[in-house]
Amino acid sequence: MRVVLLGPPGAGKGTQAQIIAGRLGAPAISTGDIFRANVSGQTELGQKAKVFMDAGDLVPDEITVAMVKDRLAEPDAKAGFLLDGFPRTIAQAEQLAGSLADLGQGLDRVLELVVEEEELVRRLSGRRMLVDGEWVQREDDKPETVRHRLEVYREQTSPLSGFYRQAGLLSQIDAIGEIDEVTDRALTALGFTDDDGPAGAPAAS
Ligand code: ADP
Repeated sequence: MRVVLLGPPGAGKGTQAQIIAGRLGAPAISTGDIFRANVSGQTELGQKAKVFMDAGDLVPDEITVAMVKDRLAEPDAKAGFLLDGFPRTIAQAEQLAGSLADLGQGLDRVLELVVEEEELVRRLSGRRMLVDGEWVQREDDKPETVRHRLEVYREQTSPLSGFYRQAGLLSQIDAIGEIDEVTDRALTALGFTDDDGPAGAPAAS
């Protein structure tokens, strides 16, 4: 199954992506994680991306799109994937459709995690990550940057809801509640039943 997880910063995409990908038996591909790995590894890509990330801006499409295209061409993504944090602009969505079409593939579903903005600010400002045994705040989780990321989301990413609704691919779920409640809603929207296994999910091709 080929799924895109859509939702604002702080909606819990990363957490849900890991769990859902496990159920799908497909890799969760997070552009944010790939960028962060490149920043810590001090690669050329990381050095380019860091400036944008620290400011809470989107990394330019040409950098991001090429990176995702390479990742989707890897063998583990052949039968399916869960994209977390990509696409984030209409241009990225169009390029994704093109890359998949080149591979003879298409998306099965776009799952949007819906959380209102007040809750997002609260979650992001309080978020800490465990790095080398210490809890640290992500540079881009500082309050001013959080506000800016939400603005960027509203302006550049939220139009993707309409884009995918028109394509008949969108399912929206309420992402407030316990993690496993949200997971249940997500799996139901993807056609999984309580019994396990995808119900009516197209076979991997
Ligand atoms: P969040 O969803 O919490 O904002 P991510 O980990 O998904 O965080 O992304 C962190 C940063 O990485 C973004 O603010 C942006 O700078 C960059 N990034 C991630 N995905 C993309 C993308 N698809 N296009 C452009 N920039 C991206």
